[in-house]
Amino acid sequence: MQVHDLTLMLSLFIASLTGSIVLMSMARMSQKVEGARYWAAALGVLSIAYLSQLTMQNFPRTILVTTFNTCLILGHSLWLIGAWHFVYIKPSLQRVALLVVPVFALALIFTLVIPDREWRLAVIGIWLIFVRGHYGWVLWQHAKHDKNEYLATQITVLVVILEIALSALYTLYGAFGSLPNIGENFSWVGGYTWLVALIGIVAGTPLLMLLSAGRFVRKLEYSAHHDELTDILNRHGLSKRLESIMPLSKRKCDSLAVIMLDVDHFKHVNDTYGHSMGDAILAELGATLKAQVRSSDLVVRWGGEEFCILLFDITPTHTLQLSEKIRSTFSNNVLGLSPNFITNPITLSAGIAFSDTVSSKHIESTQALADRALYDAKKNGRNRSELYSNEEV
Ligand code: GH3
Ligand code: MG
Ligand code: MG
Repeated sequence: MQVHDLTLMLSLFIASLTGSIVLMSMARMSQKVEGARYWAAALGVLSIAYLSQLTMQNFPRTILVTTFNTCLILGHSLWLIGAWHFVYIKPSLQRVALLVVPVFALALIFTLVIPDREWRLAVIGIWLIFVRGHYGWVLWQHAKHDKNEYLATQITVLVVILEIALSALYTLYGAFGSLPNIGENFSWVGGYTWLVALIGIVAGTPLLMLLSAGRFVRKLEYSAHHDELTDILNRHGLSKRLESIMPLSKRKCDSLAVIMLDVDHFKHVNDTYGHSMGDAILAELGATLKAQVRSSDLVVRWGGEEFCILLFDITPTHTLQLSEKIRSTFSNNVLGLSPNFITNPITLSAGIAFSDTVSSKHIESTQALADRALYDAKKNGRNRSELYSNEEV
């Protein structure tokens, strides 16, 4: 079957335009997905490249070639830039310039200054192989966070390998002058290369959507389970985390401890220094807690200015030491927020309780006991840690 180049160009135009529209609406819906906008723009620019082949065949050759190559280079650069953003590599301006400027300059030179189709095809072909290869490599290295993302990455890499193989053949043929212009005679190498490019876009769009949608859902899940101000678990996040770790913790751990922490006179702090300073203090407390506990411990914003730490297999002495260390580190750290806190320190009260049995029910009851100890700490003058003991009740 011989498919005319221009028929493929039409298919490529429709596929990339559709892909661009779909990805643009996806990017608008999930504004937080890094890279999605670049991918939508990439497909949009590529669709202009293919449209130029369809509509500009009667224009002077240099104008058609320049338009096509400019859009091809820009489109594939945006695609790669999108992947960099997606994997949290924010490219510097120099990096973007290095990616685009040399190939663009050479393409222009070999079109307008020293018109040489073979050299032009070789330069752009080699650049495309590098850019598509790097795109596959970047995803392969960084985009494997869950099953769907891994699957999308694997398929992408396969498609990219196919694209690279055909691009290599196309470049070789082009460099030795054996390729007719697009829209002229049929060539197997050209036909199959554009067919694979079409596969790259037809498969690429749902793959990019899968990657973006997966990232969006993970972000939604994260924000449902975490407190925005302090970036630590909220109570819903705690119960979800406990659901997943409880079976193992029950078998592996012999005891648990709960520390309930509360900022002293926080209402007064808000009234005196303003709500945004209050927020900054809470954020500082979140950071202090994260820095002080082991990775196996759970830190939760219990509500307002109250925080809860759940620790496994820790002795009462160590828990008390940790609580005191957290309190003093926090009071020190907040000094960085305002010199006022040297004369009027921001302090924490803590209530601590233990259980020899690890279970969801015991976590709940131990938390309630730690809350009572916290109440005692407040009653006994604040800025202190109290251990829950039976004798008090
Ligand atoms: P105590 O020493 O007895 O704990 O007194 P307190 O003033 O800290 O306790 P109270 O419960 O009366 O006040 C808690 C304050 O915490 C009231 C509320 O406005 C403030 N707060 C709760 N959440 C936030 C928040 O996210 N940001 C800020 N800035 N303030 C908050
Ligand atoms: Mg308080
Ligand atoms: Mg409180």
